[in-house]
Amino acid sequence: MMSYDTLRRFILESTNVRGEWVSLEAAWQALLERHEYPPVVRDLLGQALAAVALLSATIKFDGSLILQVTGNGPLNLLVVQANGRGNVRGLARWQSEVPASGLAAQFGDGRMVMTIDPGEGRDRYQGIVPLEGDTLAQALEGYFSRSEQLPTRLWLAADGRRAAGLLLQSLPGEQRDPDAFNRAVVLAETLKPDELLDLPVETVLHRLYHEEDVRLYEGTPVSFRCSCSRERVADMLRNLGYAEVRGVLEDEGVVEVHCEFCNAGYRFDTVDAEQLFAAGESPPGTRTRH
Ligand SMILES: [Zn+2]
Repeated sequence: MMSYDTLRRFILESTNVRGEWVSLEAAWQALLERHEYPPVVRDLLGQALAAVALLSATIKFDGSLILQVTGNGPLNLLVVQANGRGNVRGLARWQSEVPASGLAAQFGDGRMVMTIDPGEGRDRYQGIVPLEGDTLAQALEGYFSRSEQLPTRLWLAADGRRAAGLLLQSLPGEQRDPDAFNRAVVLAETLKPDELLDLPVETVLHRLYHEEDVRLYEGTPVSFRCSCSRERVADMLRNLGYAEVRGVLEDEGVVEVHCEFCNAGYRFDTVDAEQLFAAGESPPGTRTRH
């Protein structure tokens, strides 16, 4: 049975090789329902979404991870986010026709930013590297080799139906089988994008590693869910400042904020807006007395 929208971890027993597999279907469809993307942009966004789902496996429950690729080329923004609750979201922006292949042609002079919020009370970490390599998977591998030093390889695929990914990582520590990681990578290289998209994880692992002792763990669900809320929009408007918000109200009669990730709309009329800036007031619902 195929288990979409699930992140599965596995290890190759008696080696330092760990792996993860994800295939998104409902979560990917939920994202695609909200925006129309040209196929090339869509597939890159799907690959990025699968990647961020894989990379979020080690994030704590209240943490999150954002992968952002920006550039001055036809495709100028790709941003995907996953949190420790298994929620993913993402979007892409492009300004002209995006070539079918080659990150340099697609993004121009690009960079990749990884923001890791480990959760309550711990410092955010941000890593920025130039966008290098031909594919998103290669760019991410470059990011890993520059920043974390844990050898990591990724295989990503997406189409209009699904977004899927496979990750292999060589864990630190005593290497009982020093060649295991290379062996695992060479075998994973034989996996075609269509197989990654269409085959159940059990079949993939059997096909690749039937000579190894593989332990496959129970899955954790992944779903599309946006973290926007009226409260967060209110905070954002407060940060913009009274004068700015007042100006919009005078011009438009209402402040409307639209979430690009999920298409949710938030309206603030004059009364709502005045309340935002009333001295000592918190937004409705979280009001506290001093
Ligand atoms: Zn939203």
